[in-house]
Amino acid sequence: MSSWVLHFFVFALGCCLGSFLNVCIYRLPLSLSIVAPRSFCPHCQAPIRAYDNIPLLSYLLLRGKCRNCQGKIFWRYPMVEALTGGVTLALFLKFGFPLPFFSFLMFSAALLVITFIDLDLRIIPDIISLPGIAIGLLLALLGISITIKESLIGILAGGGTLFVVAFVYEAVTKREGMGGGDVKLLAMIGAWLGWQAILFTLFLASLSGTLIGGGAMLIQKEGRHYAIPFGPFLAFSSLAYVFFGPQLIGWYLGWGRP
Ligand SMILES: [Zn+2]
Repeated sequence: MSSWVLHFFVFALGCCLGSFLNVCIYRLPLSLSIVAPRSFCPHCQAPIRAYDNIPLLSYLLLRGKCRNCQGKIFWRYPMVEALTGGVTLALFLKFGFPLPFFSFLMFSAALLVITFIDLDLRIIPDIISLPGIAIGLLLALLGISITIKESLIGILAGGGTLFVVAFVYEAVTKREGMGGGDVKLLAMIGAWLGWQAILFTLFLASLSGTLIGGGAMLIQKEGRHYAIPFGPFLAFSSLAYVFFGPQLIGWYLGWGRP
């Protein structure tokens, strides 16, 4: 297989994973099964046929409309599929096959679901973050990712740091700033990536959150109380760590020099 075909294949598989993540994003917060029933059109309730359920392609062929009722298909479905395909391919190019590609793919999938649920509903469901902590620790126990010590300290540092920040923020402002969901998410990130990732993730998430959140407030004008969810920034920043973190930290501390 030429590399071009292989890369296309990996991207297409990632888009299929993204299609499943769309189902999870919609159904997990509602405590619905992610296996059954089959997907249906939200406008006319017609079941979506297999040939109309091909990631990305069906949306383009149907021009974003339901075949049955011509109702608009939410543009975010193909967007999540393309995004997942892109992340899958990027992980493949960075890590090759099979490990740690698969473990980071699982991690990224969880982060994508968390990101969009948090954007929609301002919650980070425990049903993803708590098993996420356990799986991250298990991978370390099996010797697949980081050491057990790094993972355990990561969980404590991730959970602990944000817990303290949230506690102080609430004590000072008398308003709830960060939810418990963010604390569990950062503990999950610590479990998978180790304590080294926590400082990096918090720094980048706070920086990007302040820039984008501040920008959103300026546009919204009334927005002093416009709470922007922090989960997506944590997710994005921890993924940035997966790709560039160790090099950036090494470069910063001068370890990377020959
Ligand atoms: Zn329809």
